[in-house]
Amino acid sequence: MNEVTLALADEQATVAMGKQLADITKQLNLDNLLVFLNGDLGAGKTTLTRGFVQGMGHNGNVKSPTYTLVEPYELSPWHVYHFDLYRLSDPEELEYMGIRDYFAQKSCSFIEWPEKGSGILPQEDLIINLQYNDTQRIITLLAVTSRGEQIINLIT
Ligand code: ADP
Ligand code: MG
Repeated sequence: MNEVTLALADEQATVAMGKQLADITKQLNLDNLLVFLNGDLGAGKTTLTRGFVQGMGHNGNVKSPTYTLVEPYELSPWHVYHFDLYRLSDPEELEYMGIRDYFAQKSCSFIEWPEKGSGILPQEDLIINLQYNDTQRIITLLAVTSRGEQIINLIT
């Protein structure tokens, strides 16, 4: 299977989906994971990422890196990076930030507004689309690589 669509009834369900993605990442012991997050402002991209980051072992807040572009979480054994590229004016800025070094490590990155970094960001494993439906969210996960497909096959 390379695509799955689910309803997330409320904020807790979105956080729980992020945690499930963390559990699967750990179970598969992936060396690297790159996830692109699509959806309007308020669709739940940061909420989903919060569940993932906390599921990977971070105890504490997960704030949106709107001005800093990236929030690093040096968790063991994975370096987890939460990007929000909304304010990126030129994809080249990512080169100056040394983005290649981020992905060279054992790392998991969730990227909001990935289209702002197109041409510089490497190939994503998963594309996640979030859509509004009142307080419910519709999530679609699309596998781009075999790694992405392995993840999708384990989602329940
Ligand atoms: P984004 O990062 O996509 O802009 P956020 O995750 O920051 O979105 O914000 C989502 C907002 O929607 C939060 O205020 C959250 O409380 C609210 N919300 C309501 N229902 C849901 C749901 N099912 N999943 C996620 N967020 C929800
Ligand atoms: Mg956000």
